[in-house]
Amino acid sequence: MTVSLDSLNNDVFMAMNDVAFSVDDVLAGIDAAATAGLAPIKINMVVQKGVNDHTVVDMARHFKGSGHIVRYIEYMDVGTTNQWCMDDVVPGKDIIAMISEAFPLEPVDPNYPGEVATRWQYADGTGEIGVITSVTQPFCATCTRARISAEGSLYTCLFASGGTDLRSMLRAGASDDELSAVIRSVWTARDDRYSQLRSSRTAGLRKVEMSYIGG
Ligand code: SF4
Repeated sequence: MTVSLDSLNNDVFMAMNDVAFSVDDVLAGIDAAATAGLAPIKINMVVQKGVNDHTVVDMARHFKGSGHIVRYIEYMDVGTTNQWCMDDVVPGKDIIAMISEAFPLEPVDPNYPGEVATRWQYADGTGEIGVITSVTQPFCATCTRARISAEGSLYTCLFASGGTDLRSMLRAGASDDELSAVIRSVWTARDDRYSQLRSSRTAGLRKVEMSYIGG
């Protein structure tokens, strides 16, 4: 299970997420999920320079030894509304250095080919973190993620400007084989590599909002 929590500082958290619930509510939800046996729990923290990067180590300290995995994510130009610029990005190597200074870290092999987060474990054996470096070290060449929006469109990239309408096919009575054939042909033809092409120019292009398709 994955939970979004960009800071343990309540003011920072609410300013970044524009939500009307507190850090304590999120932490209570994480505890309830753990009690219900939903493991592993991954906690995603998007790190934005000058906004929440001063809380990176606090987040590590809080979840170290809990069995949960904090995943630090470089700030990206998802959608068209977050006013992204490269100056707002804290490179993954700097995040690792910050945490490692307080709690020494060692690299760990990926769990599977194409895993998006690079894994690091605490040298004292009290758990691990992940770092997702899609800005400074894009991993499009090994990307295997397709996403379907709530409206039934298939997106082959988190930064796509459009998707393939599967809902209409379903409503018209398409068979499983017909759906499979369309999905296969879309996936086979894809050449997405947005993160390799990202620049200040591409940041302003129209892209699907993450809230449509999930992370
Ligand atoms: S930018 Fe698109 S192709 Fe590249 S890793 Fe992200 S989702 Fe995959």
